[in-house]
Amino acid sequence: MSAVELLDRHLAAIEREEPRVHAFLRLCEGEARVQAEAADRLFAAGDGAGALTGIPVAIKDVLSVRGVETTAGSRILRGYRPPYDATAIARLREAGAVFLGMTNCDEFAMGSSTENSGFHTTANPHDPTRVPGGSSGGSAAAVAAGEAVYALGTDTGGSIRQPAALCGVVGMKPTYGRVSRYGLIAFASSLDQIGPFTASVRDAALVLQAISGMDPRDATSADRPVDLLSDLERGVEGLRLGVPREYFQVEGMEPGVKTAVERAVLLLERNGAELVEVSLPHTDYGLAAYYIIAPAEASSNLARFDGVKYGARDEDAQTLVDTYLRTRRHGFGTEVRRRIMLGTYALSAGYYDAYYLKAQKVRTLIAQDFERAFETCDAIVSATAPTVAFPIGAKVDDPLAMYLNDVLTLGGNLAGVPGVSLPCGTSDGLPVGLQVLAPQWADATALRVARAYEAARDA
Ligand code: GLN
Repeated sequence: MSAVELLDRHLAAIEREEPRVHAFLRLCEGEARVQAEAADRLFAAGDGAGALTGIPVAIKDVLSVRGVETTAGSRILRGYRPPYDATAIARLREAGAVFLGMTNCDEFAMGSSTENSGFHTTANPHDPTRVPGGSSGGSAAAVAAGEAVYALGTDTGGSIRQPAALCGVVGMKPTYGRVSRYGLIAFASSLDQIGPFTASVRDAALVLQAISGMDPRDATSADRPVDLLSDLERGVEGLRLGVPREYFQVEGMEPGVKTAVERAVLLLERNGAELVEVSLPHTDYGLAAYYIIAPAEASSNLARFDGVKYGARDEDAQTLVDTYLRTRRHGFGTEVRRRIMLGTYALSAGYYDAYYLKAQKVRTLIAQDFERAFETCDAIVSATAPTVAFPIGAKVDDPLAMYLNDVLTLGGNLAGVPGVSLPCGTSDGLPVGLQVLAPQWADATALRVARAYEAARDA
Protein backbone atom coordinates (compact mmCIF):
# COMPACT_ATOMS: atom_id res chain seq x y z
CA MET A 1 0.00 0.00 0.00
CA SER A 2 1.30 3.49 -0.73
CA ALA A 3 1.64 6.14 1.98
CA VAL A 4 -1.10 8.13 0.27
CA GLU A 5 -3.44 5.12 0.36
CA LEU A 6 -2.60 4.52 4.02
CA LEU A 7 -3.35 8.17 4.76
CA ASP A 8 -6.66 8.00 2.89
CA ARG A 9 -7.70 4.94 4.87
CA HIS A 10 -7.02 6.76 8.11
CA LEU A 11 -8.77 9.91 6.97
CA ALA A 12 -11.79 7.73 6.13
CA ALA A 13 -11.60 6.16 9.61
CA ILE A 14 -11.46 9.65 11.11
CA GLU A 15 -14.53 10.71 9.15
CA ARG A 16 -16.38 7.60 10.30
CA GLU A 17 -15.30 7.60 13.98
CA GLU A 18 -14.99 11.26 14.95
CA PRO A 19 -18.73 12.01 15.28
CA ARG A 20 -18.73 9.34 18.02
CA VAL A 21 -15.21 9.51 19.51
CA HIS A 22 -14.08 13.18 19.22
CA ALA A 23 -10.40 12.26 19.61
CA PHE A 24 -9.07 15.19 17.60
CA LEU A 25 -9.11 18.93 18.21
CA ARG A 26 -7.89 19.74 14.72
CA LEU A 27 -6.64 17.95 11.65
CA CYS A 28 -3.81 18.95 9.33
CA GLU A 29 -4.93 17.07 6.25
CA GLY A 30 -3.12 19.28 3.76
CA GLU A 31 0.22 18.89 5.48
CA ALA A 32 -0.39 15.14 5.90
CA ARG A 33 -0.94 14.69 2.15
CA VAL A 34 2.28 16.53 1.31
CA GLN A 35 4.15 14.30 3.79
CA ALA A 36 2.56 11.12 2.42
CA GLU A 37 3.48 12.08 -1.14
CA ALA A 38 7.05 12.77 -0.04
CA ALA A 39 7.14 9.32 1.62
CA ASP A 40 5.95 7.66 -1.58
CA ARG A 41 8.72 9.43 -3.50
CA LEU A 42 11.24 8.01 -1.00
CA PHE A 43 9.83 4.51 -1.48
CA ALA A 44 10.02 4.93 -5.25
CA ALA A 45 13.64 6.08 -4.99
CA GLY A 46 14.38 2.81 -3.20
CA ASP A 47 16.36 4.15 -0.24
CA GLY A 48 16.17 6.60 2.62
CA ALA A 49 12.89 5.21 3.99
CA GLY A 50 12.73 3.96 7.60
CA ALA A 51 10.24 2.11 9.79
CA LEU A 52 8.12 5.24 10.37
CA THR A 53 8.25 6.67 6.85
CA GLY A 54 4.75 7.34 5.56
CA ILE A 55 3.03 6.18 8.77
CA PRO A 56 0.20 8.43 10.06
CA VAL A 57 0.56 9.70 13.63
CA ALA A 58 -1.76 11.69 15.90
CA ILE A 59 -0.19 14.23 18.24
CA LYS A 60 -1.29 15.32 21.70
CA ASP A 61 -2.10 19.01 21.66
CA VAL A 62 0.78 19.83 24.05
CA LEU A 63 3.57 19.10 21.56
CA SER A 64 4.62 22.05 19.43
CA VAL A 65 4.22 21.44 15.71
CA ARG A 66 5.60 24.23 13.57
CA GLY A 67 2.79 26.28 12.03
CA VAL A 68 -0.02 24.10 13.42
CA GLU A 69 -2.28 25.55 16.12
CA THR A 70 -1.19 23.96 19.42
CA THR A 71 -3.24 24.87 22.50
CA ALA A 72 -2.58 22.33 25.31
CA GLY A 73 -6.35 21.80 25.35
CA SER A 74 -6.73 25.34 26.71
CA ARG A 75 -8.72 28.30 25.54
CA ILE A 76 -5.90 30.56 26.70
CA LEU A 77 -3.75 29.31 23.80
CA ARG A 78 -6.38 29.59 21.07
CA GLY A 79 -4.73 30.78 17.87
CA TYR A 80 -1.18 29.99 19.00
CA ARG A 81 0.94 28.54 16.20
CA PRO A 82 4.40 27.51 17.39
CA PRO A 83 7.18 28.84 15.16
CA TYR A 84 9.21 25.66 15.76
CA ASP A 85 8.86 21.89 16.22
CA ALA A 86 9.27 20.09 19.54
CA THR A 87 12.33 17.84 19.31
CA ALA A 88 10.19 14.67 19.37
CA ILE A 89 8.16 16.09 16.47
CA ALA A 90 11.29 17.14 14.56
CA ARG A 91 12.64 13.59 14.92
CA LEU A 92 9.41 12.09 13.57
CA ARG A 93 9.42 14.61 10.74
CA GLU A 94 12.96 13.54 9.82
CA ALA A 95 11.82 9.91 9.98
CA GLY A 96 9.19 10.70 7.34
CA ALA A 97 6.09 10.61 9.55
CA VAL A 98 2.68 11.80 8.36
CA PHE A 99 1.05 14.18 10.89
CA LEU A 100 -2.72 13.73 11.05
CA GLY A 101 -3.52 16.41 13.59
CA MET A 102 -3.69 17.40 17.24
CA THR A 103 -5.55 15.26 19.76
CA ASN A 104 -7.76 16.33 22.63
CA CYS A 105 -6.44 16.32 26.19
CA ASP A 106 -7.19 17.69 29.61
CA GLU A 107 -6.19 21.34 29.81
CA PHE A 108 -2.40 21.57 30.25
CA ALA A 109 -2.47 17.78 30.77
CA MET A 110 -4.20 18.13 34.16
CA GLY A 111 -6.73 15.37 34.46
CA SER A 112 -7.55 11.70 33.95
CA SER A 113 -10.51 11.76 31.56
CA THR A 114 -10.28 14.66 29.01
CA GLU A 115 -13.24 16.23 30.86
CA ASN A 116 -10.94 19.13 31.80
CA SER A 117 -10.31 19.95 28.15
CA GLY A 118 -11.18 23.55 27.29
CA PHE A 119 -12.92 22.25 24.13
CA HIS A 120 -14.79 18.95 24.49
CA THR A 121 -14.72 15.49 26.08
CA THR A 122 -13.40 12.53 24.09
CA ALA A 123 -15.39 9.29 24.24
CA ASN A 124 -13.96 5.83 24.84
CA PRO A 125 -14.19 3.90 21.54
CA HIS A 126 -15.18 0.75 23.49
CA ASP A 127 -18.18 2.52 25.03
CA PRO A 128 -18.86 6.14 24.07
CA THR A 129 -20.70 6.83 27.35
CA ARG A 130 -17.37 6.37 29.13
CA VAL A 131 -14.15 8.40 29.36
CA PRO A 132 -11.04 7.39 27.41
CA GLY A 133 -8.84 8.24 30.40
CA GLY A 134 -6.49 11.17 30.38
CA SER A 135 -4.90 13.44 30.10
CA SER A 136 -3.75 12.03 26.72
CA GLY A 137 -7.23 10.58 26.12
CA GLY A 138 -7.51 11.85 22.55
CA SER A 139 -4.28 10.11 21.54
CA ALA A 140 -5.33 6.82 23.17
CA ALA A 141 -8.79 6.96 21.61
CA ALA A 142 -7.40 7.80 18.14
CA VAL A 143 -5.28 4.64 18.18
CA ALA A 144 -8.03 2.49 19.72
CA ALA A 145 -10.52 3.65 17.07
CA GLY A 146 -8.11 2.98 14.21
CA GLU A 147 -7.91 6.68 13.30
CA ALA A 148 -4.10 6.71 13.62
CA VAL A 149 -1.44 3.99 13.45
CA TYR A 150 0.21 5.51 16.50
CA ALA A 151 0.08 8.63 18.61
CA LEU A 152 2.26 10.66 20.92
CA GLY A 153 1.19 11.59 24.43
CA THR A 154 2.77 12.86 27.62
CA ASP A 155 2.82 11.34 31.07
CA THR A 156 3.32 13.41 34.24
CA GLY A 157 1.47 11.17 36.68
CA GLY A 158 0.03 8.50 34.39
CA SER A 159 -1.36 10.38 31.40
CA ILE A 160 -0.03 7.90 28.83
CA ARG A 161 -0.40 4.64 30.75
CA GLN A 162 -3.85 5.23 32.26
CA PRO A 163 -5.62 6.19 28.99
CA ALA A 164 -3.79 3.34 27.22
CA ALA A 165 -5.24 0.98 29.84
CA LEU A 166 -8.76 2.40 29.60
CA CYS A 167 -8.75 2.32 25.79
CA GLY A 168 -7.12 -1.10 25.39
CA VAL A 169 -3.93 -0.01 23.60
CA VAL A 170 -0.19 -0.02 24.41
CA GLY A 171 1.23 3.13 26.03
CA MET A 172 4.68 3.85 27.35
CA LYS A 173 6.24 6.44 29.61
CA PRO A 174 10.01 6.24 29.16
CA THR A 175 12.66 6.88 31.81
CA TYR A 176 12.74 10.57 32.76
CA GLY A 177 15.40 12.11 30.52
CA ARG A 178 15.05 9.56 27.69
CA VAL A 179 13.06 11.89 25.44
CA SER A 180 13.74 15.60 25.08
CA ARG A 181 11.01 17.85 26.47
CA TYR A 182 12.02 20.73 24.21
CA GLY A 183 8.85 22.10 22.65
CA LEU A 184 6.54 20.25 25.05
CA ILE A 185 4.21 22.75 26.73
CA ALA A 186 5.30 22.18 30.31
CA PHE A 187 3.01 20.99 33.10
CA ALA A 188 5.44 19.71 35.78
CA SER A 189 8.94 19.73 34.32
CA SER A 190 10.52 17.25 36.73
CA LEU A 191 7.84 14.64 35.93
CA ASP A 192 6.77 15.18 32.29
CA GLN A 193 7.85 12.65 29.66
CA ILE A 194 6.74 12.14 26.05
CA GLY A 195 5.90 8.64 24.86
CA PRO A 196 4.00 6.54 22.32
CA PHE A 197 0.53 4.99 22.03
CA THR A 198 0.48 1.99 19.68
CA ALA A 199 -1.41 -1.18 18.87
CA SER A 200 1.56 -3.42 19.70
CA VAL A 201 4.61 -3.49 21.95
CA ARG A 202 6.96 -3.68 18.97
CA ASP A 203 5.46 -0.50 17.52
CA ALA A 204 5.96 1.23 20.87
CA ALA A 205 9.64 0.24 20.83
CA LEU A 206 10.04 1.52 17.25
CA VAL A 207 8.46 4.88 17.99
CA LEU A 208 10.29 5.38 21.28
CA GLN A 209 13.57 4.45 19.58
CA ALA A 210 12.93 7.19 17.01
CA ILE A 211 12.17 10.00 19.47
CA SER A 212 14.72 9.13 22.19
CA GLY A 213 18.14 10.55 22.79
CA MET A 214 20.22 13.47 23.92
CA ASP A 215 19.15 16.93 22.83
CA PRO A 216 21.28 19.98 23.65
CA ARG A 217 18.03 21.99 23.98
CA ASP A 218 16.87 20.00 27.02
CA ALA A 219 19.44 19.90 29.82
CA THR A 220 17.57 16.98 31.43
CA SER A 221 17.80 14.78 28.33
CA ALA A 222 20.36 12.06 28.80
CA ASP A 223 23.32 11.04 26.71
CA ARG A 224 22.72 7.31 27.06
CA PRO A 225 22.63 4.58 24.45
CA VAL A 226 19.14 3.65 23.32
CA ASP A 227 18.58 0.11 22.05
CA LEU A 228 14.99 -0.92 22.55
CA LEU A 229 14.74 -3.58 19.86
CA SER A 230 17.59 -6.11 20.30
CA ASP A 231 16.16 -7.79 23.42
CA LEU A 232 12.50 -7.39 22.58
CA GLU A 233 11.80 -11.03 21.68
CA ARG A 234 13.94 -12.65 24.37
CA GLY A 235 10.99 -13.62 26.58
CA VAL A 236 10.82 -13.62 30.38
CA GLU A 237 12.69 -16.86 31.04
CA GLY A 238 15.12 -16.09 33.85
CA LEU A 239 13.66 -12.67 34.69
CA ARG A 240 12.43 -11.91 38.21
CA LEU A 241 9.16 -10.01 38.28
CA GLY A 242 8.28 -8.08 41.40
CA VAL A 243 4.68 -8.10 42.57
CA PRO A 244 4.22 -5.11 44.87
CA ARG A 245 1.90 -6.03 47.73
CA GLU A 246 0.69 -2.44 48.21
CA TYR A 247 -0.31 -2.05 44.55
CA PHE A 248 -2.89 -4.82 44.85
CA GLN A 249 -4.52 -3.29 47.93
CA VAL A 250 -5.07 0.32 46.84
CA GLU A 251 -8.33 2.09 47.57
CA GLY A 252 -10.94 1.62 44.88
CA MET A 253 -9.32 -1.41 43.17
CA GLU A 254 -12.09 -3.12 41.22
CA PRO A 255 -12.21 -6.91 41.72
CA GLY A 256 -12.49 -7.52 37.96
CA VAL A 257 -9.33 -5.48 37.33
CA LYS A 258 -7.46 -7.30 40.08
CA THR A 259 -8.46 -10.71 38.69
CA ALA A 260 -7.43 -9.85 35.12
CA VAL A 261 -4.03 -8.59 36.28
CA GLU A 262 -3.42 -11.59 38.55
CA ARG A 263 -4.14 -13.86 35.58
CA ALA A 264 -1.68 -11.92 33.44
CA VAL A 265 1.01 -12.23 36.11
CA LEU A 266 0.45 -15.99 36.33
CA LEU A 267 0.73 -16.26 32.55
CA LEU A 268 4.12 -14.56 32.75
CA GLU A 269 5.13 -17.06 35.42
CA ARG A 270 4.04 -19.98 33.24
CA ASN A 271 6.25 -18.52 30.52
CA GLY A 272 9.36 -18.71 32.67
CA ALA A 273 9.38 -15.60 34.87
CA GLU A 274 10.13 -15.97 38.54
CA LEU A 275 7.65 -14.05 40.70
CA VAL A 276 8.97 -12.32 43.79
CA GLU A 277 6.98 -10.35 46.31
CA VAL A 278 8.24 -6.80 46.72
CA SER A 279 7.14 -3.88 48.86
CA LEU A 280 6.75 -0.19 47.96
CA PRO A 281 6.01 0.96 51.51
CA HIS A 282 5.46 4.66 50.78
CA THR A 283 2.75 4.03 48.18
CA ASP A 284 0.09 5.61 50.41
CA TYR A 285 1.94 8.94 50.37
CA GLY A 286 2.52 9.10 46.62
CA LEU A 287 -0.71 10.83 45.74
CA ALA A 288 -0.26 13.56 48.37
CA ALA A 289 3.35 14.21 47.36
CA TYR A 290 2.44 14.29 43.66
CA TYR A 291 -0.41 16.76 44.24
CA ILE A 292 1.99 19.17 45.95
CA ILE A 293 4.93 18.83 43.55
CA ALA A 294 3.01 18.81 40.25
CA PRO A 295 0.87 21.89 41.07
CA ALA A 296 3.93 23.71 42.48
CA GLU A 297 5.79 23.26 39.20
CA ALA A 298 2.65 24.03 37.21
CA SER A 299 2.04 27.31 39.06
CA SER A 300 5.50 28.41 38.00
CA ASN A 301 5.34 27.03 34.44
CA LEU A 302 1.94 28.55 33.72
CA ALA A 303 2.97 32.04 34.83
CA ARG A 304 4.04 32.71 31.23
CA PHE A 305 0.45 32.65 29.96
CA ASP A 306 -0.37 36.29 30.58
CA GLY A 307 -2.20 37.40 27.44
CA VAL A 308 0.92 39.12 26.15
CA LYS A 309 3.34 36.49 24.91
CA TYR A 310 1.08 33.70 23.61
CA GLY A 311 -2.40 32.97 22.34
CA ALA A 312 -5.61 34.69 23.34
CA ARG A 313 -5.86 38.02 25.20
CA ASP A 314 -8.84 39.52 26.98
CA GLU A 315 -9.49 42.65 24.93
CA ASP A 316 -11.71 44.43 27.47
CA ALA A 317 -8.99 44.96 30.04
CA GLN A 318 -8.08 48.60 30.75
CA THR A 319 -4.71 48.17 32.49
CA LEU A 320 -1.76 45.80 32.35
CA VAL A 321 -2.64 44.03 35.59
CA ASP A 322 -6.24 43.83 34.47
CA THR A 323 -5.02 42.19 31.22
CA TYR A 324 -3.25 39.49 33.21
CA LEU A 325 -6.15 38.94 35.58
CA ARG A 326 -8.92 38.84 33.01
CA THR A 327 -6.95 36.78 30.46
CA ARG A 328 -6.06 34.16 33.06
CA ARG A 329 -9.49 34.12 34.71
CA HIS A 330 -11.27 33.58 31.41
CA GLY A 331 -8.55 31.60 29.65
CA PHE A 332 -7.94 28.89 32.27
CA GLY A 333 -10.53 26.32 33.35
CA THR A 334 -11.43 25.39 36.92
CA GLU A 335 -8.94 22.57 37.40
CA VAL A 336 -6.02 24.62 36.10
CA ARG A 337 -6.93 27.53 38.38
CA ARG A 338 -7.27 25.12 41.31
CA ARG A 339 -3.76 23.77 40.67
CA ILE A 340 -2.20 27.21 40.24
CA MET A 341 -3.65 28.21 43.61
CA LEU A 342 -2.56 24.97 45.29
CA GLY A 343 0.94 25.26 43.87
CA THR A 344 1.36 28.94 44.66
CA TYR A 345 0.26 28.26 48.23
CA ALA A 346 2.62 25.30 48.64
CA LEU A 347 5.56 27.41 47.42
CA SER A 348 4.79 30.53 49.44
CA ALA A 349 7.02 31.69 52.29
CA GLY A 350 5.85 30.05 55.49
CA TYR A 351 4.33 27.02 53.74
CA TYR A 352 7.28 25.99 51.57
CA ASP A 353 8.91 23.91 54.33
CA ALA A 354 5.67 22.39 55.55
CA TYR A 355 4.39 21.33 52.10
CA TYR A 356 6.80 21.61 49.18
CA LEU A 357 9.96 20.56 51.00
CA LYS A 358 8.12 17.78 52.83
CA ALA A 359 6.71 16.50 49.53
CA GLN A 360 10.20 16.48 48.00
CA LYS A 361 11.42 14.35 50.90
CA VAL A 362 8.57 11.92 50.36
CA ARG A 363 9.50 11.84 46.68
CA THR A 364 12.99 10.69 47.66
CA LEU A 365 11.52 7.96 49.88
CA ILE A 366 9.39 6.74 47.00
CA ALA A 367 12.38 6.69 44.64
CA GLN A 368 14.25 4.67 47.30
CA ASP A 369 11.32 2.24 47.54
CA PHE A 370 11.78 1.50 43.84
CA GLU A 371 15.57 1.23 44.11
CA ARG A 372 15.21 -1.30 46.91
CA ALA A 373 12.53 -3.27 45.10
CA PHE A 374 14.71 -3.45 41.99
CA GLU A 375 17.50 -5.04 44.04
CA THR A 376 15.42 -8.22 44.07
CA CYS A 377 13.61 -8.04 40.73
CA ASP A 378 14.16 -6.98 37.10
CA ALA A 379 10.73 -5.43 36.58
CA ILE A 380 7.54 -4.75 38.55
CA VAL A 381 4.09 -5.80 37.38
CA SER A 382 0.73 -4.42 38.52
CA ALA A 383 -2.52 -3.00 37.27
CA THR A 384 -2.15 0.32 35.45
CA ALA A 385 -5.32 1.86 36.89
CA PRO A 386 -7.52 0.54 39.70
CA THR A 387 -10.65 0.81 37.54
CA VAL A 388 -11.86 0.30 34.00
CA ALA A 389 -13.12 3.31 32.03
CA PHE A 390 -15.69 5.16 34.13
CA PRO A 391 -18.83 6.91 32.86
CA ILE A 392 -18.45 10.46 31.57
CA GLY A 393 -19.47 12.79 34.40
CA ALA A 394 -19.01 10.24 37.21
CA LYS A 395 -16.02 11.94 38.85
CA VAL A 396 -16.16 15.56 37.63
CA ASP A 397 -17.49 16.91 40.91
CA ASP A 398 -15.01 14.99 43.04
CA PRO A 399 -11.39 15.87 42.17
CA LEU A 400 -10.04 13.48 44.80
CA ALA A 401 -11.85 10.50 43.27
CA MET A 402 -10.43 11.55 39.89
CA TYR A 403 -6.90 11.85 41.34
CA LEU A 404 -7.14 8.30 42.76
CA ASN A 405 -7.16 6.83 39.24
CA ASP A 406 -3.41 7.61 39.06
CA VAL A 407 -2.40 5.98 42.32
CA LEU A 408 -0.58 3.12 40.54
CA THR A 409 1.14 5.22 37.88
CA LEU A 410 2.37 8.39 39.57
CA GLY A 411 5.02 6.57 41.65
CA GLY A 412 6.80 5.81 38.38
CA ASN A 413 6.95 9.53 37.58
CA LEU A 414 8.11 10.51 41.06
CA ALA A 415 10.90 7.90 40.79
CA GLY A 416 11.63 8.66 37.12
CA VAL A 417 11.38 5.01 36.05
CA PRO A 418 9.96 3.71 32.75
CA GLY A 419 6.56 2.06 32.51
CA VAL A 420 4.52 0.32 29.83
CA SER A 421 0.79 -0.37 29.93
CA LEU A 422 -0.66 -3.04 27.67
CA PRO A 423 -4.08 -4.70 27.41
CA CYS A 424 -4.63 -7.78 29.60
CA GLY A 425 -8.20 -8.89 29.19
CA THR A 426 -11.41 -7.23 30.23
CA SER A 427 -13.60 -6.56 33.22
CA ASP A 428 -17.31 -5.89 32.60
CA GLY A 429 -16.47 -5.99 28.90
CA LEU A 430 -14.02 -3.08 29.19
CA PRO A 431 -10.23 -3.19 28.71
CA VAL A 432 -7.88 -3.70 31.66
CA GLY A 433 -4.24 -2.56 31.59
CA LEU A 434 -1.18 -4.45 32.84
CA GLN A 435 1.61 -2.10 33.94
CA VAL A 436 5.27 -3.12 33.67
CA LEU A 437 7.74 -0.84 35.48
CA ALA A 438 11.52 -1.21 35.18
CA PRO A 439 14.59 0.45 36.71
CA GLN A 440 15.79 3.79 35.35
CA TRP A 441 17.25 3.39 31.83
CA ALA A 442 15.96 -0.20 31.61
CA ASP A 443 13.22 0.85 29.17
CA ALA A 444 14.22 -2.15 27.06
CA THR A 445 13.44 -4.51 29.96
CA ALA A 446 9.96 -3.02 30.43
CA LEU A 447 9.30 -3.51 26.71
CA ARG A 448 10.73 -7.05 26.75
CA VAL A 449 8.42 -8.13 29.59
CA ALA A 450 5.46 -6.43 27.91
CA ARG A 451 6.27 -8.14 24.62
CA ALA A 452 6.58 -11.54 26.37
CA TYR A 453 3.13 -11.08 27.90
CA GLU A 454 1.67 -9.93 24.57
CA ALA A 455 3.10 -12.98 22.77
CA ALA A 456 1.82 -15.38 25.43
CA ARG A 457 -1.60 -13.68 25.52
CA ASP A 458 -2.00 -13.95 21.76
CA ALA A 459 -0.62 -17.50 21.49
N1 GLN B 1 -4.07 12.71 36.10
C1 GLN B 1 -2.86 13.27 36.64
C2 GLN B 1 -3.04 14.74 36.86
O1 GLN B 1 -4.11 15.20 36.71
C3 GLN B 1 -1.73 13.02 35.70
C4 GLN B 1 -1.75 13.88 34.53
C5 GLN B 1 -0.60 13.65 33.61
O2 GLN B 1 0.09 12.63 33.70
N2 GLN B 1 -0.37 14.63 32.77
O3 GLN B 1 -2.13 15.44 37.21
